Amino acid sequence: MGLSDFTDGLMRGIGMGDPVIRLGVTGLSRAGKTVFITSLVANLMDRGRMTALRAAADGSIKAAWLQPQPDDTVPRFEFERHLAALTGPQPYWPEGTRHISQLRLSLRVQPRGMLGGLRGQQTVHLDIVDYPGEWLLDLRLMERSFDDWSQEVMTRMTGRPGAPDYLAALNEVDLSAKFSEATAQRLAASYTAHLNAAREAGFSDCTPGRFILPGEMAGSPALTFAPLPPSDGKSPLRREFARRYDAYKSRIVKPFFRDHFARIDRQVVLADVLGAIHAGPQALEDLRRAMADILSAFNPGRAGWLAQLLGLRRVDRILFAATKADHLHHSQHQRLTHIVTALLREARDRADFAGARTEAMAIAALRATTEDVIKQDGEELPAVRGTLMDGRRAAFYPGELPEDPAALLTPARQGQSEWLDGDYAVMNFRPAADTARPGDGPPHIRLDRAAEFLIGDRL
Ligand code: GDP
Repeated sequence: MGLSDFTDGLMRGIGMGDPVIRLGVTGLSRAGKTVFITSLVANLMDRGRMTALRAAADGSIKAAWLQPQPDDTVPRFEFERHLAALTGPQPYWPEGTRHISQLRLSLRVQPRGMLGGLRGQQTVHLDIVDYPGEWLLDLRLMERSFDDWSQEVMTRMTGRPGAPDYLAALNEVDLSAKFSEATAQRLAASYTAHLNAAREAGFSDCTPGRFILPGEMAGSPALTFAPLPPSDGKSPLRREFARRYDAYKSRIVKPFFRDHFARIDRQVVLADVLGAIHAGPQALEDLRRAMADILSAFNPGRAGWLAQLLGLRRVDRILFAATKADHLHHSQHQRLTHIVTALLREARDRADFAGARTEAMAIAALRATTEDVIKQDGEELPAVRGTLMDGRRAAFYPGELPEDPAALLTPARQGQSEWLDGDYAVMNFRPAADTARPGDGPPHIRLDRAAEFLIGDRL
């Protein structure tokens, strides 16, 4: 951002009637939310690489500047710190999203066409709201009792890391004994360790979401419960856990939907689809279910308390984006797009987003690689070259994606082939800052197309 943009912003101040777009950014932990927001904002301020955003390419956006957000009690998204991490002399990836945060970027826009010329310039505020996708998964809890939820997660747990330890911890407890806080804490800690281990292994569907990202709620009774095996009796422990589970729903889940979710206009849902494909069929299956659950939160036709809360308000555009596409040579991007499109189509079939435009894309918010070709056993492999975290530069071939998404997404065909079984596991690239030119934001892949879909029509 130039100094003139900044003073322009100060001089214009905040007009009360200026249009506001509230853009929600979500996705499970490590999906790429922090990097996405940082790069999007930097690229909206320095628009040299935003050619597919029409208002940037045709010069309609005259200036862009940050200003204080309207919500005084929501933490500010730490844009400057994250950008410094990504673009400093020793670039590194910033710490990801742990809780909700917000940032206001204001854009001075000259509306197009004859009428636009008459109307003069206008300020549009883009309020970006960053929140963990895990919080949307908690929507499932709202429709379930403690016993139903317990049964569901006890079944889901089988075969996942940390599950045997949790079952062992349960075994040591006399479930019919008097309630003890020490027991509650031990079970909650063991269950949380299992959730974290499952996340680490690539599983997405890990409720309650705040157990993984507790923020300031850590240690509170509403986060100190765990699932219990089915039983006919109502023991003191079960009664207290059920009470805490209900408190979790009414004191944590519901207020988030009421105070934040209900005010969003446009939404991007990010997913590390490549990571899940690499982790294997079970992780991909799990991501696919989690994405369908996350997207179902946007089903305007859903019944019950959420419908009441939302009233007539609708999210009218939803972008579903696979991140980190810079791990692949562009010759594979089309295949990745087909896979995300298939995932979105499936979620859309289940939850009818009537009235909302949806789109699926493969993007890299911050491109850390360039393209290359590796010669191996007389074969030429489409590769990407980047700097690894230890400073070495190298070219890698991540392996292939299937041409037909059904090879990944049809249960009967899953696991018949290995996908992304090349160097993908070791492709831990550092962000590449050295490519930045004056007037350009950080390098990306299709971030401008994502922005055009999300906000282009309102500029
Ligand atoms: P969050 O937890 O959703 O906020 O995820 P982050 O934005 O912190 O991203 C998680 C990690 O994914 C980062 O630390 C990077 O290692 C990686 N990452 C995110 N976006 C990109 C990208 O565009 N390109 C590459 N190569 N890696 C990315």
